[in-house]
Amino acid sequence: MTHSKHKVVIFLGPPGAGKGTQAARLAEEQHLTQISTGDILRDHVRRGTELGQQVKPMLDAGQLVPDPILIALIRDRLAGMDNIRVIFDGFPRTTPQAQALDVLLEELGAPVNAVPLLEVPDQILIDRIVERGRQAAAQGQTARSDDNEETARKRQQVYREQTQPLIDYYAGRGHLYTVDGVGSMDEVYARITGGMKPQSS
Ligand code: ADP
Repeated sequence: MTHSKHKVVIFLGPPGAGKGTQAARLAEEQHLTQISTGDILRDHVRRGTELGQQVKPMLDAGQLVPDPILIALIRDRLAGMDNIRVIFDGFPRTTPQAQALDVLLEELGAPVNAVPLLEVPDQILIDRIVERGRQAAAQGQTARSDDNEETARKRQQVYREQTQPLIDYYAGRGHLYTVDGVGSMDEVYARITGGMKPQSS
């Protein structure tokens, strides 16, 4: 199978919608690099880097990390890639981030191909996040320190205020399509790939 040179997919959706899981599968099947800003930031916290120490209180509080930090992180990730074949999961989360990403992609000659929006009702989202925290604890793993009900609600509020405007941003460019995020992992995955335009799959 031949792959077109560039492919850029942006997963939108509230915290707990399953973006990370679905993005990982799509990345593997379509030979794309998954860029999960939440994972990158948590890794910095774990390693205790300077950046990690700076952002830990923000992650724990469910607040967003400042745009310039995220934009620099993404710029670094994309620099040095020959072919821009990526899935963004957790970025962009604000309008300034989306605008900065557009500038970066324009410089690289790699336009956005598809923006699936995973939709899941609010209460199901909270239940999933709290359950994810509980399961990690039951398996003797350290739960993500932001996987508790209070922080989950805060993350939802931040999503509504800062990230939901991106739905209009990408809808206006014709890249957005809505995916029902309730169902089995396979069902949701089929909806995501089924919604991609042929030239972008
Ligand atoms: P979830 O989708 O479960 O809310 P993520 O793993 O995507 O979580 O992100 C976890 C935390 O990392 C966010 O609550 C925020 O503090 C920080 N973060 C991740 N991506 C961004 C971003 N693009 N801009 C600002 N903060 C971010």
